[in-house]
Amino acid sequence: MKLTIIGRWGAYPAANEATSAYLLQKDDFTLLIDVGSGALSSVQNYVDVMDIDAVILSHYHHDHVADIGVLQYAWLVQSILREQDEILPIYGHAEDKEGFSNLTSENTEGIAYDPKETLEVGPFNITFLKTVHPAPCYGMRITDGESSIVYTADTSYQKEWTDFCKDVDLLIADCNFYANQDGASAGHLTSKEVGTIASEANVKELILSHLPHYGDHQQLLKEASEQFHNRIQIAEKGLVWIK
Ligand SMILES: [Zn+2]
Ligand SMILES: [Zn+2]
Repeated sequence: MKLTIIGRWGAYPAANEATSAYLLQKDDFTLLIDVGSGALSSVQNYVDVMDIDAVILSHYHHDHVADIGVLQYAWLVQSILREQDEILPIYGHAEDKEGFSNLTSENTEGIAYDPKETLEVGPFNITFLKTVHPAPCYGMRITDGESSIVYTADTSYQKEWTDFCKDVDLLIADCNFYANQDGASAGHLTSKEVGTIASEANVKELILSHLPHYGDHQQLLKEASEQFHNRIQIAEKGLVWIK
């Protein structure tokens, strides 16, 4: 499968960039994971918006769903122009009734996932872990039967991450705080915690994402690499991972 980073910022996007959004592709199937601010503009560098087959959301904070409305408009406009009447499925949890109800529009359908069950979307099997965050939020473990990735979404530390991430090929982690900061009270991970999870779970590769707007990201890399000795990268717009 092929993962492309569409947005890597926490809270709000830096100029010409986006907050959380990741494109996961396998064969002809394209899944968009979270649709943060700036995601709709950014994603069009990599895929025609009508070629997105499904969307899945971790939670309903603005930096993960801000562009849902304009994605719906894009599908409305392009459906008329192309005389298509396809419906885009948008998977989200139903613990936030208002957030979930916003997923359904003329050309999109909100579909509630049951976090206790494995969800099949195209070629992907997705399992969930409830994160530790001020709003209900789910991390995802996604496999195509050959390789596997975990996306932590937004979370502070919990020991359950170790089992959930066990032996994955790629971990994309919330790394919103530096090692000496208190990530837990904001519901996010520090670089040191991310490195510890990656190391204890024996993951093959790590990408630090949901990045802070201050400090030097190279320091996040250095702090995580004190715990985890395999390959680590800072998320960059357009970074591609293939396995
Ligand atoms: Zn966030
Ligand atoms: Zn959040």
